[in-house]
Amino acid sequence: MNGSPERTADEDVEGDRTADDRTADDVVDVLIVGGGVAGLSAATFTARAGLETVVATAGESILKRNAHVENVPGFPAGINPRLLLDLQRSQATRNGADLRRVRVTAIESTDRANAGFLATVEPAGSSTGSEENSDPSTIVADRVVAASWSDASYLEPAGADLRDAGSKTYVEDDGHGRTSVEGIYAAGRLAERYHQAVVAAGDGARTAITLIHDAEVPFYHDWVAPEGYFTDRGREVPPGCEEITEEERLARERESMAEMREHFAEPHGERQRTHPSLVDDELGRVPEE
Ligand SMILES: Cc1cc2nc3c(=O)[nH]c(=O)nc-3n(C[C@H](O)[C@H](O)[C@H](O)COP(=O)(O)OP(=O)(O)OC[C@H]3O[C@@H](n4cnc5c(N)ncnc54)[C@H](O)[C@@H]3O)c2cc1C
Repeated sequence: MNGSPERTADEDVEGDRTADDRTADDVVDVLIVGGGVAGLSAATFTARAGLETVVATAGESILKRNAHVENVPGFPAGINPRLLLDLQRSQATRNGADLRRVRVTAIESTDRANAGFLATVEPAGSSTGSEENSDPSTIVADRVVAASWSDASYLEPAGADLRDAGSKTYVEDDGHGRTSVEGIYAAGRLAERYHQAVVAAGDGARTAITLIHDAEVPFYHDWVAPEGYFTDRGREVPPGCEEITEEERLARERESMAEMREHFAEPHGERQRTHPSLVDDELGRVPEE
């Protein structure tokens, strides 16, 4: 499936197609809005589950304002937040997610089976490297995950319940990521989770697994086990699980070591930013777009 349909000459003359003009091939399984900590984590899970996943992202993760992340599991001496986001982007892409540099401005229901939602998008400036700049003005998706701290406004046309809290708006959900609109999910800070990266990443995973269960697979773990772990006990390898040989395990370990050496070889090239309001500070914000 492909979320960026090719236009024919006729369509160019006739203008934008609507959701009802599209073929099933134009519809992606999952549109994730927001390529920050929660959205990239969700994308890794949905893509690994075999769902065609597009991540639409604009602006930058609020984690980039952090100076050194010291409380994410697995990094005993902490990690540069920009590197952490690079690693997450790389992981989502390796697992098959399609990252696009676009801002979502509206999501509406399409009233069509297997093409639940029409997202209106606009270009969002220069790519940070792993996202494709993308032209089409709409994306049609069966399901949507809103992980776009701190913008929930595009969910209003679809009618998702939102909660205003002063200057912030949160998306209401059932605690597992399902919003008041079937097929629309929420994750991370936008779903009013605690404001930590590991919580946002975990919540992205939880929401993705809820979505995967709702989509097709009632039992889904996403585990990689050694050869024989299930089968030597007379059990089928469960959906979403994999058994790998010792040779394959070593190959994956070596690949992982090589990739991590590359990422950690030098200090990160992108400069530290501070609060966007401090634009005149010498550490101030680089223009966003
Ligand atoms: C100064 C500072 C320091 C911090 N330090 C730590 C720390 O040390 N440890 C820790 O655990 N946490 C820290 N945090 C908190 C952490 O950054 C957040 O909790 C976490 O990033 C939330 O993840 P998220 O995915 O919900 O949002 P984000 O990571 O902000 O991702 C949301 C993404 O959605 C994009 N987006 C928004 N609207 C749209 C739209 N309409 N269309 C497309 N994309 C959109 C945004 O631009 C962004 O890229 C810190 C935060 C700040 C501000």
